[in-house]
Amino acid sequence: MSSVNKGDLRAAATLLAASNRPAALTGAGMSAESGISTFRGADGGLWSRWSPEELATPDAFRKDKGLVWGWYVWRMGVVAQARPNAGHRALAALAERWPEFAIVTQNVDNLHERAGSARVSHLHGGLYEHRCFACARPHSGFEVPADAADNPQLRLQPPRCRHCGGYIRPGVVWFGEQLPEAPWRQSTAWLKNCDLLLVIGTSAVVQPAASLAGLAHRHGAKVILINPEATEHSALADVHLKAGAAEVLPLLLDQANNS
Ligand code: NAD
Ligand code: ZN
Repeated sequence: MSSVNKGDLRAAATLLAASNRPAALTGAGMSAESGISTFRGADGGLWSRWSPEELATPDAFRKDKGLVWGWYVWRMGVVAQARPNAGHRALAALAERWPEFAIVTQNVDNLHERAGSARVSHLHGGLYEHRCFACARPHSGFEVPADAADNPQLRLQPPRCRHCGGYIRPGVVWFGEQLPEAPWRQSTAWLKNCDLLLVIGTSAVVQPAASLAGLAHRHGAKVILINPEATEHSALADVHLKAGAAEVLPLLLDQANNS
């Protein structure tokens, strides 16, 4: 039996079915049911060893490169072993009915793409997009060790840049860093233009990403919140589906297609 409130589901499906330009804003909760821990929230937000706020910073990398690179290589391993869940697949399927369906994600995993979504904007970069800490040139060819996922205590010296000899860092946005400009522009354009926004699995505390739900709302979009918990976005939501993304998104898609 599903835990989703039937009336809320019906209301959300009616909004989705009536929409011309739906879009989604996703956070770590989107991938929770794929076995990738969130930072905060229902699954306990447990990370191995450290809190991301302490580790995901340029200073932490300067201080202890082996620790930070090792932690990211462990995460690369975990994500490589994870599979897109039914929620990722339902969002990919939305593009059959709405070919322009766009996803703005804070996730650094690649599960939306692996589920088949084509229009995805990554606000916080990607786990597998490496670049030089010194000269910022992209770096390719790093092989994630086969047993990385089994080894949360991994400590590993980063590879060196082929151009300047600097250390290679993961291409994710760390706390205190600017968001990459092109994805930000793309994301704001998509969300200003949508008429319905699915806000899925985000705690609404990381800025400026969290402000994008308000941006869509101010531009007239309806908002459907999908999160087992209340967040700062609850106040904007026309409907709040209090359940996991992998459970509720297939039901929502089904009901919208049949209404
Ligand atoms: P967050 O960890 O702060 O919040 C997660 C939210 O998801 C919470 O509100 C929680 O209630 C909700 N949630 C938990 N399980 C859910 C489920 N099954 N379905 C729907 N919602 C669920 O994550 P955030 O808001 O994305 O922001 C924090 C930062 O964390 C981002 O910068 C992101 O880059 C990073 N992050 C990314 C990943 C990833 O790439 N998969 C994982 C962890 C953190
Ligand atoms: Zn370099």
